[in-house]
Amino acid sequence: MSREQQAVARARKAFETGRSKCLDYRIMQLESLKRLFTERQKEIADALKKDLNKSEVASQLYETMGLEGEINLAVKNLKSWAAPRPVEKNLLTLMDTVYIRPEPVGVVLVIGAWNYPWAVTIQPLIGAIAAGNAAVIKPSEVCVHTAKVMEEFLPAYIDKELYPVVTGGVTETQELLRQRFDHIFYTGNSMVGKIIMEAAAKHLTPVTLELGGKSPCYIDKNCDITIACRRVAWGKYTNCGQTCIAPDYILCESSIQDRVIAEIKKAVKEFYTENPQTCTDYGRVINQRHFKRIMALIDDSTVAVGGQNEEANCYIAPTVLRDVKPDAKVMQEEIFGPVLPIITVSGLNEAIKFINKGEKPLALYVFTSDDKVIQKMIEETSSGAILANDCLVHYSISALPFGGVGNSGMGCYHGKFTFDQLSHLRSCLIKKLNMEGANTMRYPPHTPTKLNRA
Ligand code: NAD
Repeated sequence: MSREQQAVARARKAFETGRSKCLDYRIMQLESLKRLFTERQKEIADALKKDLNKSEVASQLYETMGLEGEINLAVKNLKSWAAPRPVEKNLLTLMDTVYIRPEPVGVVLVIGAWNYPWAVTIQPLIGAIAAGNAAVIKPSEVCVHTAKVMEEFLPAYIDKELYPVVTGGVTETQELLRQRFDHIFYTGNSMVGKIIMEAAAKHLTPVTLELGGKSPCYIDKNCDITIACRRVAWGKYTNCGQTCIAPDYILCESSIQDRVIAEIKKAVKEFYTENPQTCTDYGRVINQRHFKRIMALIDDSTVAVGGQNEEANCYIAPTVLRDVKPDAKVMQEEIFGPVLPIITVSGLNEAIKFINKGEKPLALYVFTSDDKVIQKMIEETSSGAILANDCLVHYSISALPFGGVGNSGMGCYHGKFTFDQLSHLRSCLIKKLNMEGANTMRYPPHTPTKLNRA
């Protein structure tokens, strides 16, 4: 038996003991998981520094604080989330007890990505535990140090039989994918998303796919461009552009392009100083493979801001490209790096047309002071989420479903949505054996008199 098969078999056996279904046990596991973030904050931050040059504050702000919030929410609401949900009845079932019972699905496979390795791996796990499941956790191999910390510390804080960690690369993930799961929760790129879905289809396993893509950002000329550009610069250059919901490119009229460039430049200087390379708040591209990929994307476009780089430490300065052509290399794939192309359009209608020609994005941003522009953008486009006059912050609202549509993913999570996503919502109807007279109408023989009485 391979290591992966053993982990799945162990998780299945532990699930079959029934202990993960006990609400108090779920709460105990969640509380213990939360302790990991406070007691091991230093090890977590050190690893994130090595993997992504994340500062300690950024590690807490963008990784563990959100997880603690999600745990608090789940602990506080678990009893009501897990309780039977009565539903409206019809005439035929008026005297019956009819409700939805959220039940654990069984063993969940959680496959994480590397850009926010704690947030995207542990958040689905929180939902899996809350919903009473076992879960096999596969951290991304790309964050070498973080994967090691997870492998070492998760089993020390949560039930290691119910929630085993399997480390390794593509080979190990593929071996896991050959096993039978009751749900697969994958975060990563859309190409691998298809591989995951194909593997899941062999066992008819349901999937949640949290994918990426090119999230557009339209800046209207009727808008406070200084504020818009500060918010866009924050959304883009946080984590060195390696955020699934980062604005991928800007659409604006050519009359404001120079202002947009100047304001982004100003914001970059304010956030990361004159020399971002020496600024502790500025991250690094994850590895040389991605460094080379990003640099190759920009060589047919005009650099307006930044462009400085150093391969040896995977540094690419916050960069803006101007007058980018729709067929430029940088527009052919998700950038996932600190490069922000500007494409000029004649106005809102052309921007909407451009957006709708591409795949449905994970996030869509519009900056404007005109409510009509916001409403038109909402009405005439589709995306996982749409934000007016800000970036990224919807991620922090547990009451909003987080997920993509079309090529940017399927299914959603955060807060109660994760609980529901990883539960089977079982329909229950309980009837008494009396009052048989009320049922005669549906039994044959189906005479016309019965129809008239109905
Ligand atoms: P990655 O390379 O870490 O891959 C994620 C997982 O997929 C890893 O565990 C890896 O082992 C596995 N994997 C990779 N190739 C595979 C293959 N051929 N077969 C089977 N398994 C394989 O992460 P990534 O894909 O580079 O992550 C970046 C992408 O993730 C971006 O597109 C980003 O937008 C997206 N993302 C989405 C969200 C979201 O919530 N929607 C969050 C973060 C990242």
